[in-house]
Amino acid sequence: MVDLKGQYEAIREVVDRSIAEVIDTTSFINGPEVRAFQKELETYLGVRHVIPCANGTDALQIAMMGLGLQPGDEVITADFTFAATVEVIALLQLTPVLVDVEPDTFNIDPEAVRKAITPKTKAIVPVHLFGQCANMDAIMDIAREHNLYVIEDNAQGIGATYTFEHGKKVKTGAIGDVAATSFFPSKNLGCYGDGGAIFTNDDDLAHVIRGIVNHGMYERYHHDVVGVNSRLDSIQAAVLRAKLPLLDAYNERRKEAATKYTAAFEGEDKIVTPVLVGEPDSHVYHQYTLKVKGADRDALVAFLGAHDIPCGVYYPIPLHRQKAYLDKRYDEKDFPVTNKLVEEVISLPMHTELDDEQIAYITSTIKAFINK
Ligand SMILES: *Cc1c(COP(=O)(O)O)cnc(C)c1O
Repeated sequence: MVDLKGQYEAIREVVDRSIAEVIDTTSFINGPEVRAFQKELETYLGVRHVIPCANGTDALQIAMMGLGLQPGDEVITADFTFAATVEVIALLQLTPVLVDVEPDTFNIDPEAVRKAITPKTKAIVPVHLFGQCANMDAIMDIAREHNLYVIEDNAQGIGATYTFEHGKKVKTGAIGDVAATSFFPSKNLGCYGDGGAIFTNDDDLAHVIRGIVNHGMYERYHHDVVGVNSRLDSIQAAVLRAKLPLLDAYNERRKEAATKYTAAFEGEDKIVTPVLVGEPDSHVYHQYTLKVKGADRDALVAFLGAHDIPCGVYYPIPLHRQKAYLDKRYDEKDFPVTNKLVEEVISLPMHTELDDEQIAYITSTIKAFINK
């Protein structure tokens, strides 16, 4: 699905040198690399504060802790996303409220959000799924109207730019009250282990969060709030510093691969290719996800496997049907889109090193299956 080795070969010298420097200086934790990466990412995103942490799941949890959400508060998020998003809501004893998504973008449906709001609702978590910006015009409007926090899950969207209806362009992760991202190796900006970060433009919230990630300490050995221990280590920061200047080029390469995939499927009526909503820079193709109509998706997965083509089904089960997140309030009728997507979606190999030959082999194999 990804070619991390090929990507590493191209930047081996600078990465190896940066890692060796960290080892040389032995400042493994909170070293100058971490601070430098933080500043560089703040500049890239156009956001006032980046707070690095240990992984994307922690980032989501810490963002919610920082906002002071309390047990029983309802947090609305998408039914069709990775479990981390809903997991941290439940873990903090907040109440997850899952809602349906849009069929074209796979992203949270603003109308479904509106319908799910109750007096207990405190926050909305849009996920920029597969790298496509969620509808932030509608979500920010709803949040303003109902006085709700917006927590962006930007784990799959880093580098994407949202263009508001009035024309303003903002990078995902710099739009809501706070955002979380992951530097898991296969993400668009990935390190060589675990990593994550929280973003916010709010100075006070940034201060609160900097304490939370460090055991609730604002002054050494004074623990004002219950915190966690969540750090990005210096070696990961060094890798990320080497890759950040290449992020736009990496995302451009993903986009080129996506364009070639889509062109190859033109005229195939059993294959629905991803729909780009908004400007071309609003999608960074963390995944290239097809919908298979009128053919057996699972048989296609098996067929590709037999031809040594990796593929993924993200996600095979809606969160509202996962044992851990069952809730009597959910009604199957409220999830028509997610319930259908889980049977139709298939994600193809997507990374920065895909070449024309690979794309031709993958697409011709898929076409051979659906037309046989
Ligand atoms: C990867 C991912 C996360 C979690 O990131 P980790 O670093 O693996 O903890 C959260 N949300 C989404 C949408 C993701 O894709």
